[in-house]
Amino acid sequence: MQSAGPLLHSGFRASVRHVPENTALSLRGRTWTYRDLDGIARRWAAALARHTPRPKRVAVLGHRSVVTYAGFLAGLYAGATVVPLNKKYPAARNRELLERAGIEVVLADAGSVKQLGALLDGLAGAPAVVLPDTDEVPAGFPVGARVLTRADVETCVPLAEPVEVAPEDGAYLLFTSGTTGRPKGVQISHANAASFLAANTERYGFAADDRFTNTFDQTFDLSVFDLFMSWGSGGCLVPMDAFDLMKPLDFVRDNGITVWFSVPSVAVLQHRKGVLVPDSLPSLRWSLFCGEALPAATAQVWQEAASGSVLENLYGPTEATIACLVHRWDPETSPASVVNGVVPIGSPYPGMAAAVLDEDGSPVPDGDTGELCVSGRQVFEGYLDAPEQTAEAFRTGSPSSGPDRRWYRTGDLVRRTDSGEYGYVGRLDTQVKILGHRIETGEVEAHLLRQERVEQAVVLAVPGEEEGVTVLTGVLAGAGLDVHDVDEELRRTLPPYMIPLTYHLLDVFPLNDNGKVDRKALRLRVVSGELEPVLL
Ligand code: AMP
Repeated sequence: MQSAGPLLHSGFRASVRHVPENTALSLRGRTWTYRDLDGIARRWAAALARHTPRPKRVAVLGHRSVVTYAGFLAGLYAGATVVPLNKKYPAARNRELLERAGIEVVLADAGSVKQLGALLDGLAGAPAVVLPDTDEVPAGFPVGARVLTRADVETCVPLAEPVEVAPEDGAYLLFTSGTTGRPKGVQISHANAASFLAANTERYGFAADDRFTNTFDQTFDLSVFDLFMSWGSGGCLVPMDAFDLMKPLDFVRDNGITVWFSVPSVAVLQHRKGVLVPDSLPSLRWSLFCGEALPAATAQVWQEAASGSVLENLYGPTEATIACLVHRWDPETSPASVVNGVVPIGSPYPGMAAAVLDEDGSPVPDGDTGELCVSGRQVFEGYLDAPEQTAEAFRTGSPSSGPDRRWYRTGDLVRRTDSGEYGYVGRLDTQVKILGHRIETGEVEAHLLRQERVEQAVVLAVPGEEEGVTVLTGVLAGAGLDVHDVDEELRRTLPPYMIPLTYHLLDVFPLNDNGKVDRKALRLRVVSGELEPVLL
């Protein structure tokens, strides 16, 4: 059945029709054609519907397995919103996401089954479980859990066609860090995603011989670009695991990669190692970066290494669907519009508008710094079950121009450059990026303060030992506090990237004129070395 408008998976479906025998996925030497993936997704979609006829939200738990890739498609084919979980997160975190999203079915790969048992234990309204590459219900699974293993899945009759959905229905739901200690649910509709994909299809004109990286975990929305841009072009997705990411340039060469997409940190590291040799990445046609500030010096060197590629800096929050501004690096002209050593974030995507507003919501004069607000087809509706946070995240009405009147407040400080593009200046708040991961330091603080002995906690992003690397540090106060215990406890509830690398102990925190902790003063004491870290 035809849907009313383009969906997240429409491009994949078109490739199934046009290039069924092309390789769609290449994973550690194994390959799947478009026909293969489509067949798997139709069968698994039937399995997802076995216990719940039309599941609203389906979670996918796994890492770099066919289950995670075909599973994403299967969720969409079942007519559900896909909620990626992350095997690297502690069970408590995944469980919280499962509960918050009201998940009815979980699809998991064999590598995640162990965690799944702990995740489901005692969970109210236990979801059904589909394990397409697991042969037996594992020990430790809650008694009475509704589980389909490999043999059960194989008896499911594949859906003839994906379940029909509307463009305004949810395509995927991701959780981002929340200041209050609770992650914020961001649901992106098919219409949001399709608008993003259409803009990129027009911009890049990828072809069936393109080979795409997948450097991001599926809990990071940039991975949606990898999956659905490659599948929409009839090209091949070639995911990288942690080992490949340590030697990314070899991976590009060994796998004939034509489209590179990662956070800038990956390139910064290669730049620092001195391995970005001119013309050493001849297969690349596109070098795309997103997710954090891209240093101009790194862009320059990467461009020389991948001299046959076009290098771009994409920008965007999860709430505005993956990326909504972009700058094309030009070695001749771009250096003039670099702000604070970083590449400009460019200008808005088609269907999107940007404005730089002051605290009152009035546009600032060109060249002044203000908050970047974005409006248009890619902007989400609002946070999951959080009307207050949603209200705070939007300005309505001012400025009154733009494709729609709702302006999403990004919290990013920008200013317009002489070329009319936007230059990235920093953040309005204490949100930070660690290797591209978005972290509200307030969320880590809230988790620390839940611990009995922790009386005060401030989490700061500070320069790490390696040049250009930012790390988290926690400054703590509390009688009888043992930093080892604090660290261990934190790891039980937060993803690894949110765990401070170092801790400092302090009896009395400096206060500012408002009586609040003076984070600036504290930061200075940490960075200067006056406050010594506690050895872990
Ligand atoms: P996320 O929702 O995880 O994609 O994070 C969005 C945030 O990442 C933005 O609000 C920015 O703070 C930051 N960000 C994303 N892309 C860029 C970029 N190209 N330059 C600077 N910051 C960026």
